[in-house]
Amino acid sequence: MTENGKLYQPQKEETTLTIQWGSRVTEMMLLMHTALLVFFWMLGVYPMMVVNIFSVIIYGAEFRVLKKNAGLYLGIYIVEVLIHMTLAIAFVGWSSGFQYYVFAMIPVMFFADHTVRKDGNSSAHPVLFSTLAILAFLLCRWIAQTFSPVFPIPTNIAFWANTINGVAILLMLFVFSIVYIHRILEIENELVANAEFDELTKLPNRHYLDRLMDEQKIGAADGIAEYAVAILDIDNFKKVNDRFGHLAGDQVLKKLAGILARSAADHENVFAARWGGEEFMLLAIRDDAYGRLMDMTEDVRRQLERSVVHFDYWQIVVTASIGVSGTTESLHFKDLTEEADKCLYEAKGSGKNKVIGKYGER
Ligand code: GH3
Ligand code: MG
Ligand code: MG
Repeated sequence: MTENGKLYQPQKEETTLTIQWGSRVTEMMLLMHTALLVFFWMLGVYPMMVVNIFSVIIYGAEFRVLKKNAGLYLGIYIVEVLIHMTLAIAFVGWSSGFQYYVFAMIPVMFFADHTVRKDGNSSAHPVLFSTLAILAFLLCRWIAQTFSPVFPIPTNIAFWANTINGVAILLMLFVFSIVYIHRILEIENELVANAEFDELTKLPNRHYLDRLMDEQKIGAADGIAEYAVAILDIDNFKKVNDRFGHLAGDQVLKKLAGILARSAADHENVFAARWGGEEFMLLAIRDDAYGRLMDMTEDVRRQLERSVVHFDYWQIVVTASIGVSGTTESLHFKDLTEEADKCLYEAKGSGKNKVIGKYGER
């Protein structure tokens, strides 16, 4: 927070969310089906053992499918789970607890839908697949009611199978709830970052400054009484836009933002922000805020007039006028800003490319 000179960089995602989470789910499924393969082999339920061999092969291949076609991946995943569940009920009966797997399907479907949409793909149809899951559950109920299991398993084994299946599903729901909450918090942070940082220059914006002023009680009677603000406005910026185009203008804004961000990072208790349009702000707090800000802004002004922005075959040089105002008397931010604005106006009226400051008795 105190070092807003460090520019905000949105994290670049190496793999997409879908691949990230899909791979974890696939690993888990691979593990579960391998365990089930052994379980059915030990029980002598060979048809289910064969089903599980296919399942293991399918999940092995799913890693590749996931990277190529997320929709196909999900389709295969859902069909596998539902068929596996239905066959297990038919072969070893309701008491084994394989029907529980349908319960985890619904949150997984909605989470998958979230990840594929976030990655910019179309919906993964969670409503359709959830309906399918409910229908599969009803089918299993009907099978259990109508037919006896093909391979009835001993009661004590059924008890353990039921318990393990139940716990496995509860753990899945548990993990997914954690993941879901984690994602919500992540998204919330992203939203805050987007709302408080300027897209073009990556500098904090007014909202950030407002929060900073509040949190640090800057200018409040019971907070930090000594602080100073500087408003910087690029000189004749309309001409830059008119002559070289808006994109060139944007590059000029980025150049000044870079100078300000570095300058703020190099100094204690100084913050840089994009105030709006082609206006920027530097805020200094605590000891000798005004004196330090006057020195810093003069330095920034000189750096800018010596900087060259290369755009196409143009070399663009701009200057900025700067108004600075400081207080040690807990003056309100709005009042101090108005004073800095007046100084800026004065700087513009007296030839531009200069720093004018006001401090002291009011
Ligand atoms: P002065 O020296 O008096 O400041 O003159 P000026 O031409 O800079 O006048 P003014 O400050 O009113 O100009 C503001 C211009 O800044 C107008 C607007 O088109 C431009 N501007 C504001 N935001 C952006 C932006 O994000 N990108 C670009 N390229 N231009 C912007
Ligand atoms: Mg302006
Ligand atoms: Mg201007």
